[in-house]
Amino acid sequence: MRINGERLKKTITDMAQIGATPNGGVTRLALSDEDKDARDLLKRWMIETGLEIRIDDFGNLYGRRPGTDPEAGAILIGSHLDSVPAGGRFDGVVGVLASLEVLRTFKDLGIQTKRPVEMVNFTGEEGARFSPPMLGSGGITQMFSSSFIYDRVDADGVRFEDELIRIGYRGESPHRAKNVQHFVELHIEQGPILDTERVPIGAVEGIVGVSWLEVTVRGVRGHAGSTPMAMRRDALIAASVMVSAIAEVATQADKDLLLTVGKFVPRSSAPNVIPDEVTFSVDIRHYDSLIRKRGVQAVKDLLMSIGREKGVDVSVVDLWNMEPTVFSKSLVELICEVSSFLGYPVRKIRGGIGHDAKYMNEICPSAMIFIPCVEGKSHCEDELASWEDIEKGTNVLLHVVYRLAQQ
Ligand SMILES: [Zn+2]
Repeated sequence: MRINGERLKKTITDMAQIGATPNGGVTRLALSDEDKDARDLLKRWMIETGLEIRIDDFGNLYGRRPGTDPEAGAILIGSHLDSVPAGGRFDGVVGVLASLEVLRTFKDLGIQTKRPVEMVNFTGEEGARFSPPMLGSGGITQMFSSSFIYDRVDADGVRFEDELIRIGYRGESPHRAKNVQHFVELHIEQGPILDTERVPIGAVEGIVGVSWLEVTVRGVRGHAGSTPMAMRRDALIAASVMVSAIAEVATQADKDLLLTVGKFVPRSSAPNVIPDEVTFSVDIRHYDSLIRKRGVQAVKDLLMSIGREKGVDVSVVDLWNMEPTVFSKSLVELICEVSSFLGYPVRKIRGGIGHDAKYMNEICPSAMIFIPCVEGKSHCEDELASWEDIEKGTNVLLHVVYRLAQQ
C-alpha cells in the first residue's frame, strides 16, 4: 500500500498558486481572501474524495471518512494552510495535503477502516495576522475561550470573528472535533537536523518548553563630548555585554539549552548622546522543564551581576512561559516501526516550535512526523522540501493511520 506521489505533488503545486509570491513563496494570512480561496479549493478536493465536510465555530475545516464501528473514536490528521507573510509553500500545507492524499489512497484501494479517519485544516496556526498562534486548535482544546479568539484583532483593528464571517467559514460549535482517539500531524522540520543527517523521517518525541524574558537596562543619559568614559553609566554598552554573556550561559549549562536575544531596542537617541535605556528579549528553550527554569535563573543572576558591575539598573519581566509537550511513546515507536517497515531511515527528534499537535496532545495522545526541509529554512520564500521526502513522509502517515484506525 503506497500513496500516489505524482498526484500529491500536483496537489501541493496547485495549492501554492494561491497567494503565490514572486520569489516562489506564498502569503496566505489567516482569514484573508487567499485563505478563503485555499479553503474553497481544499473543500472541493475533499468533496471529490467523498468526505463528509464540517466547519466548526473557529473555522476549522474537517473531512470525515466513516469507519465500520460508529462508536469508535476517530483518527484525526492534518495541519494548517495559513502562512506568514512571504512564507513557504510547505509549512503546514504538506500536513494538510498529505492527509488528503492518505484519504484519497484509502478511497482508491477501497480500504475500510474500523475507526473513522478525519482530516482537518486548522485556522490561524501561524499567529502572523491574529496573535497568538494556534488559535483554531487552541479553541477546540479549550486553551482559549471563544470570546478570546473572536476578539483578536489584526494590525488594522479588524476582528477575527468578523473576518471569519466575511470569508464564510464560521461554522457551529457542535462541529468541533470530538471523540478523537489520536491526532497525527506531518510537518516539515523547520530546522536543519534531518537535512544535515540525510534522514527522511523524524519521529517527534515532544516539543520544547519556552520562557520569554523582557529585560530593561537603565543608565544615565549624558553628552558624548563631556562625560569621561570612567564616569559613564552607558545602558547600551552594559546591555551589549549582557547579550554576549547570555550566549555563554547556554554553552555552560546544557548543550540542548537554547538562548536567543531576538529583539534589542535602544531608546532612540542621537550620535552624540550616551544611551540611557535599552530593552531586549531573551527566549529560553529546553525539552526538560527543570533545566529550562535553571537556565532562566542563571540568565537573571547574570544580568543582575553585570548590571551591578556596570552601574546600571536592570529589571526583568517574565513575559511568557510554555511547558514542554511529551508525545505518546507508543506512537513514537509506531512511527519508527512503520518507517523501518517501509525501508526509510528514521530518527527520534525533538521539536523546537509550537504546532497544532501540541494543543491536540492535551485532549488525546498525539504524534508528529517530521520530514527534512532544505538547510532547515522555513518561514521564507525559499523554504523547500524534496518531493521524494514528502512522498516518504506521506507513506509513513498512511501506514500509521491505517494501523491506528484498525485498533
Ligand atoms: Zn506550521
